[in-house]
Amino acid sequence: MRRPATILFIVLDAFPHDLVDRDLTPTLFALAAEGGWARDGGRGILSAATYPNHATFITGVGPGEHGIYTNRAWSAAGKRPAQEVGPRASTLFEECRAAGLKTAAAFGDQNLVGVCGAEKADVHWPPGGILPIDAAKGKLGYGADLAVIQGLDGMDWAGADFVFLQLDEVDTARHLSGPFGDAVLEQCRATDAALAEILERFRSGWDDTLAIVVSDHDHEAVEPGAVDLAAAATAQGLDIEIDHEGTAALVVGEVSDARLLELPGVAGATRLAPGFKLVWGPPGQQFGIDWGLAAQHGSPRTLKQLAVVGGGHPAARAIAAEVEASPPSALSWAGRVRHWLAL
Ligand SMILES: [Zn+2]
Repeated sequence: MRRPATILFIVLDAFPHDLVDRDLTPTLFALAAEGGWARDGGRGILSAATYPNHATFITGVGPGEHGIYTNRAWSAAGKRPAQEVGPRASTLFEECRAAGLKTAAAFGDQNLVGVCGAEKADVHWPPGGILPIDAAKGKLGYGADLAVIQGLDGMDWAGADFVFLQLDEVDTARHLSGPFGDAVLEQCRATDAALAEILERFRSGWDDTLAIVVSDHDHEAVEPGAVDLAAAATAQGLDIEIDHEGTAALVVGEVSDARLLELPGVAGATRLAPGFKLVWGPPGQQFGIDWGLAAQHGSPRTLKQLAVVGGGHPAARAIAAEVEASPPSALSWAGRVRHWLAL
C-alpha cells in the first residue's frame, strides 16, 4: 500500500478520553466517524505526566529507555529539566531526517520542543522552545491554542511527511477548575474548534492524510495540602531520592515496596525500571507542594488517553480497527508512524 503523504499526530493535552460527542466536540466526532476511536481510552505510561508521555509518543519507548520519568529527566548524574536533556532514545524527527522525509512540530507547551527533540524537525515552533513575547498565552503561561495555529501558519510545513502538534489549553482548564465541570467542557469545545482549524489546513490532501489525535493523561481532583515525601523519606533514614509529580512521586534508588508503603501518604507502588519506582497516594492526595490547583495527574488513576484516528488514507481505517479492538498503548504510536512511513 502507498504510504500516506502526511501523518498528522496531534496531542490535545489532558483531553478527556471519552469526550467524542456530536454536539460538544464535532471535529473529533467527525474524525472518529471517518476512522474510529478507542471508546475506553488508550493507555499512557507512568508517571502519567506530560513530558514522559510525549517522549514516549515520539520515541515509542518508555522512561527506562528515554530517561524522562517525570517532568524531569534522570540519568546517573541526577535529574535535570526534561526540556534541557530531551529523550535519550531515537526520535521520529531524527529517523525521518535520515530517511529524507520532512517533519514539522508546534507545541502550546513550549518545553515540548526540547522534551520531544523537535529541534531536529525541519521546522518547529516556538523557536528554540521559547514563546515569543507576543504569543497568546494561557493562564499557566503556556502557548494558547490560537498561538499554536499562528505558529503553524508561520512555518513552512508544506509537503511535510510527519507533523506533530500539541494544544495545551484543556490541561490548564482542568488544573485550575477541576477535572470536569462547565469550564472544562467549554474549553474542550474551544479546543475541538481549534482542532477543526488545524485540520482545515490539511484538507486539500486529505485523501492521502492519516490523522491521529490523542491526549497524554487524564486528571483527578485534589484536596488542599500535599505530602512532602522527600522529607518523610529523609526522616525515615531511607537512602533514596524523591521527585514529586502531582498525584504520584518517583522514587530513585533501591528500596522495597514494603518500606515505601510504610511512608505517609503512600497507597501503592510499582517498578518502572531498575532503580526507579513510582508511588501514589489515595484519591485526592497530592505530593510535594500545594500549588492551589483543583486537579492534578501522575498516578495510575490518570493514565487514560484520548485516541481518535481519521483521515482519507487507508491507514486510517486499518489503525482505527486496531484501536477499536483493544486500547492502544502510548508506546504503540511511534511504531505505527514508522510502519506507515516505512522508516
Ligand atoms: Zn499533559
